[in-house]
Amino acid sequence: MFKPLDINDNEEKKSGEEAASERVKCLIVGSGPAGYTAAIYAARANLEPVMYEGLQPGGQLTTTTEVENYPGYPEGVTGPVMMEDLKKQAQRFGTDVRWGMATKVDFSGEIHKVWIDDEKLIEAETVIIATGATAKYLGLEDEKKYAGGGVSACATCDGFFYKGKDVAVVGGGDTATEEAMYLAGLCNKVYLIVRRDELRASKVMAERTMKTPNIEILWKHQTKGLFGDNGVVEGATLVKNLGEAGEEEVKIKIDGFFLGIGHKPNSDIFKDYIDTNEVGYINTVPGTSKTNVKGVFACGDVQDDQYRQAVTAAGSGCMAAIDAERYLSEKHG
Ligand code: NDP
Repeated sequence: MFKPLDINDNEEKKSGEEAASERVKCLIVGSGPAGYTAAIYAARANLEPVMYEGLQPGGQLTTTTEVENYPGYPEGVTGPVMMEDLKKQAQRFGTDVRWGMATKVDFSGEIHKVWIDDEKLIEAETVIIATGATAKYLGLEDEKKYAGGGVSACATCDGFFYKGKDVAVVGGGDTATEEAMYLAGLCNKVYLIVRRDELRASKVMAERTMKTPNIEILWKHQTKGLFGDNGVVEGATLVKNLGEAGEEEVKIKIDGFFLGIGHKPNSDIFKDYIDTNEVGYINTVPGTSKTNVKGVFACGDVQDDQYRQAVTAAGSGCMAAIDAERYLSEKHG
């Protein structure tokens, strides 16, 4: 039923090389907690999943230090170790985990085509999109210099390490105000660095933020750089009123610098076929992982602009595998 394509009939064939196309029951694109969980469930359901890990195997969590809010790890676990464990679990049940990145898709037919690294063609009966989202950074050299030493793009992941300390959050939208509110509950003081003289956040979040006594909003401030010792953040250099009268440099002393300027869902290559919202998050049928294309499912941060947690991503990965399995059983009877 799922026999490989006859490569003799295949235009993509490259003589003497690995077959340039292959047919699979279930292709998983992306390898964070959503992708690996989908793989565990799909493998156990005999879908013989093939997973392409993408540019950042393990996803965003591999850039986090300690994960303390994932159930089942009473002492916490580092992001990379947790991802390695999930990968081993997926492989234990037979997931074929491969290095490579999906670069192009064609979801116009019943069999879905996905090209890996612009070369290899995978023809899949079901595709599970678990490509995640990428936090936006300002693009400062210092963000790299102090990565792991006080720079973070996830307050819920890393806020705990700044208990009782002073921190800053950059941004004025819902992400930034939510991060600032979360951190205000843990930290001594939170600076919110806002580049304009108003917040983009929803009214309710903006009001709550402005009413929180230990959040100080630095209006019309932009970040120039960070300073510190031995790769650990001790403060930030800001510019107030950049390019205007009254422009001045301001230094704040902080231990943590949080980015809250938004995330970019990694959905670009699917956009010609898959419905997304205006920001690019994939729309799924509520309560399921189903996209607008039959046989294509989405899970994890690429379809979640609300929760973005490892455990919610894992839960939605499970849903995607179950949805894929049901789709195949209905199709083949
Ligand atoms: P937004 O695009 O809404 O906001 C980004 C913020 O970061 C803006 O204030 C923007 O400033 C600022 N910013 C962007 N680039 C820079 C930069 N280079 N330097 C300084 N500041 C910068 O992103 P969010 O992630 O906040 O929200 C995305 C979507 O997700 C929204 O629709 C939001 O409502 C939703 N969301 C909902 C939540 C909820 O309901 N619980 C939680 C989080 C997000 P400026 O305003 O000047 O452009």
